[in-house]
Amino acid sequence: MLLPRAGGAAGRALPPLAALSQVLRLERSRRTAIVFPLQKLERYLAPGTDTARFRLFQPGMAALQRAEALFRSDRGNPIDYVSSAVRMDHAPPLALPEVRRALPLRPSAGARLSYGAEGWWSSCAALSERCAVCFIGRSNVGKSSLIRALFSLAPEVEVRVSKTPEEAEGALVFRQMKELYNLSRCALKPFEKNQTQRSTKGHTKKINFFKVGKYFTLVDMPGYGYRAPQDFVEMVEAYLQERRNLKRTFLLVDGVVGLQKTDHIAIEMLEEFGIPYVMVLTKIDRASRGVLLKNVLEIQEFVKESTQGCFPQLFLVSSVEFSGIHLLRCFVAHITGNLPTVEAS
Ligand code: GDP
Repeated sequence: MLLPRAGGAAGRALPPLAALSQVLRLERSRRTAIVFPLQKLERYLAPGTDTARFRLFQPGMAALQRAEALFRSDRGNPIDYVSSAVRMDHAPPLALPEVRRALPLRPSAGARLSYGAEGWWSSCAALSERCAVCFIGRSNVGKSSLIRALFSLAPEVEVRVSKTPEEAEGALVFRQMKELYNLSRCALKPFEKNQTQRSTKGHTKKINFFKVGKYFTLVDMPGYGYRAPQDFVEMVEAYLQERRNLKRTFLLVDGVVGLQKTDHIAIEMLEEFGIPYVMVLTKIDRASRGVLLKNVLEIQEFVKESTQGCFPQLFLVSSVEFSGIHLLRCFVAHITGNLPTVEAS
């Protein structure tokens, strides 16, 4: 499903520096800062500091350009917000026997379906059958802004922020049921009342799926930190354990505050599950150079000493200034197998 932004996409100006062609017009040093923000920091490090890990993934302009094409939507490469899933205990009586009896259940092709918590998650997983990357991080870490920046060349795709959790819950559950069973809304009417009652309490954490043409699915995980670790464990663990084609998990860390206790919980989980992941430092435009350097070095050291599954290079991004966004697009294109050869810059 395509969700047009208010005002429509037509004629909308791209944010400054959203496209590589805009970046290429900058003078060299500014261009490097935007494309390779980590490299830009190097000059402020004490002589002898090991910076080998700063340049493990350092594509040339041609590769960056090829990667960008994946993130541009057009007829041949539609980028769509596909679906959302809510946590199991927010689901309407979809899982209950009465629904099983009442509805002419016809799962859409490819959707593996059953009725317990596992079935719910299985159906979510079916939505991302093909190769996927997922983004996780504490609430407010800048995840929506980052996803928005990545998709800024596809302005008709909205990275949705629900008005209220209750609205989101009701709408999402119905959409999920309609998509899975291809039902009209009136077929769901008997369950609507129950749904409304249920949706007036609690809060919603959801997983969003974005389909990037024929290339990959980007999975936006619920933020953790609020009522964590319970929500985190329930939703994120459940999805990750269904990870059939998950190529990489991007763990977002706030560049101003660095690694927090809840981030360590996420890291422990990824390590325990043996899921390959990458750390992304967000909001780098907000951090002073000193703070940023301290956080970068601390995290690099932590990754080196205490992790197994983390890619050794840290990615730095600012969704406001678009620094690091082009490099991240390229890395995503590469690890999803859509850019097998990446010539170094
Ligand atoms: P989420 O809860 O992880 O999805 O975080 P959001 O994307 O909603 O961002 C939380 C807050 O941080 C918002 O006020 C954003 O405007 C702000 N923010 C996000 N990314 C950046 C960034 O790169 N730079 C700056 N200066 N602010 C950012």
